[in-house]
Amino acid sequence: MNIVLLGPPGAGKGTQAKRLIEAYGIPQISTGDMLRAALKAGTPLGLEAKKYMDQGALVPDSVVIGLVKERIEQKDCAKGYMLDGFPRNVSQAQALDKMLGELRQNIDHVVCVEVPNDELVRRLTGRRTCRNCGAGFHEMFDPPKKAGVCDKCEGELYQRDDDNETTVTSRLKVYEDSTKPLIDYYEKQAKLRRIDGVGSMDAILARITAVLG
Ligand code: AMP
Repeated sequence: MNIVLLGPPGAGKGTQAKRLIEAYGIPQISTGDMLRAALKAGTPLGLEAKKYMDQGALVPDSVVIGLVKERIEQKDCAKGYMLDGFPRNVSQAQALDKMLGELRQNIDHVVCVEVPNDELVRRLTGRRTCRNCGAGFHEMFDPPKKAGVCDKCEGELYQRDDDNETTVTSRLKVYEDSTKPLIDYYEKQAKLRRIDGVGSMDAILARITAVLG
């Protein structure tokens, strides 16, 4: 089963993807994670991408399309995969359709996770991640026992560079202008499944698994 997770930054796509990996046994392909890994490794691609990411802008299509193409051809994607954060605009969606046509594959479901804007800002600006084990926390909704310290491994918690309020505002605008048109794009292909992204993580997971079957 090939799935696209669509929705604004902060909708919880990454969190739900991690749980869907267990439920369906297919990998998550997050272009954001791939770009952050390239940046951490100091590759030319990562350093180039940083310029866009720091501003909340989209990294050029050719870069992310190349990353996804390489990734979906890997062995662990043979039974399916979840695209998280890709496609981000209509031209990426068209490139994906072309790529999948050549591989004789299809997208089965596009899960669109919907969350109101004011809630997204609260979620994104309070988000904290452990530098050591990658565990996620939230200053307000899921605070660690000791401020700035991971409950699981005592690693240092940090805020993603692009989760400050100014960059969050830009990212939400990019979503409205460039990514939201994909709702229409996939509705026309009869692949869109809208999910209410407000509620407990378990409740949202149950809504997603109900539409995926
Ligand atoms: P995310 O982790 O999905 O919120 O992505 C973080 C940042 O990575 C975005 O704000 C973009 O700068 C970049 N990015 C991630 N995915 C894409 C994509 N499909 N197209 C262009 N830029 C992307």
